Amino acid sequence: VHKTPSTEEEIKRRHQYISPILSLSYKEPIFMSRSAFQYMYDADGNTFLDAYNNIPHVGHSHPKVVEAGQRQMAQLNTNTRYLYDLLPTYAEKLLSKFPNTLNKVFFVNSGSAASDLTMRMAHAHTNQKTVMVMEHGYHGNTQISIDISDYKFNNPKGQGQKKYILKTPIPDTYRGKYTGENAGKLYAEEAVKQIEDTDHPIAAFITEPIVGCGGQVPLAKGYLKEIYPAIRKQGGICISDEVQTGFGRLGDHFWGFEAQEVVPDMVIVGKPIANGHPMGAVITTDEIAESFGKGVQFFSSFGGNPVSCAIGLSVLEVIEEEKLQENAKEVGDYYKSILSELQKKYDCIGDVRGSGLFLGIEIIKGKNRETNRSLAHHIKNELRNKFILISTDGPDDSVLKTKPPLCFTKENAKEVVDTIDEILEAYYQKV
Ligand code: PMP
Repeated sequence: VHKTPSTEEEIKRRHQYISPILSLSYKEPIFMSRSAFQYMYDADGNTFLDAYNNIPHVGHSHPKVVEAGQRQMAQLNTNTRYLYDLLPTYAEKLLSKFPNTLNKVFFVNSGSAASDLTMRMAHAHTNQKTVMVMEHGYHGNTQISIDISDYKFNNPKGQGQKKYILKTPIPDTYRGKYTGENAGKLYAEEAVKQIEDTDHPIAAFITEPIVGCGGQVPLAKGYLKEIYPAIRKQGGICISDEVQTGFGRLGDHFWGFEAQEVVPDMVIVGKPIANGHPMGAVITTDEIAESFGKGVQFFSSFGGNPVSCAIGLSVLEVIEEEKLQENAKEVGDYYKSILSELQKKYDCIGDVRGSGLFLGIEIIKGKNRETNRSLAHHIKNELRNKFILISTDGPDDSVLKTKPPLCFTKENAKEVVDTIDEILEAYYQKV
């Protein structure tokens, strides 16, 4: 591997001034210098195909988004205590992407802040405290977000499960207890029993429609349709975390909850909403916004500022103008089909799952489905050495994750799959 001379030096400076708690990708971390659309360039001028980063949703450094930010930054940037047209204009445009009942939006600066805010609003609306969370779920880095994130509190170094949390098993049709067409119903039956048996009424139930940190696990078909009514029966509210799955990435739908044929009471958005500019939001109903409005004032210094609104608006426009949801569908379907072909060739590919340009490839030891973290890491690092970026995640970090900018092409997808094929061929020749 060709190494940038200052890589070691840069790592040392990070540790000196920040902390090794900031993780780095790859055995050989990359010193990045530029990016454009689905490509990133290191300090030596090497070009990486980005099959991983979902935050630059419409493409790294997209000129329309860059221009929107630059123009607005030079004109006015302030906070919501003044009137400016961009706030309601952007809010209206964003809300037009949701079902009619979701008609209020609160802007913050990250997915974590949005998750945190949903909890505050849920308590304000229900006056209940228990929160039902998904096994392996992740919702952010604030204390409350960590409380509701099994991925963090259940880590050996984590804080453990708080008393007000009720965790429900992930309805995983590959690795879980139930498989097949009825799995969603069967998982839901157990979760509904948990809901009915709880001593304290549930304030909120939060999950992603495809559990990203859990290893790109789509909730079994029909699952949420059974859970939502049980939560609402207790006076609780249903939250969909669309930070990873939203904005057309899934191809068939603009939001992940649509695939489950439900309408949540609150939606959390972040990451792709502003293509990398720090932004998050909570979208909710009139009734919940009204309950929240009766409490202490809500203010975010940066949330909904004119620059953020201009950037967010430009992202929505680019998604439409460039038909990126349609591209996610077309390229994603093709990508998944050639990955499924590759699965036939290698026993170590246990499962190919996900939707649109949000896919997971589970690497296993053989037919018994034992996780294979070391091979997953080998593939990830070899791809990096061959200038392709993907990552790993899941409870054993054994699932390859691919969720590229939505301008990804079929040729890009083929390059990734051909390269994984090459890596595995070489691997099995050596073994
Ligand atoms: N929810 C989900 C599903 C996420 O993946 C993340 C970030 N990985 C967050 C919330 C938190 O977002 P942020 O990092 O912007 O605070």
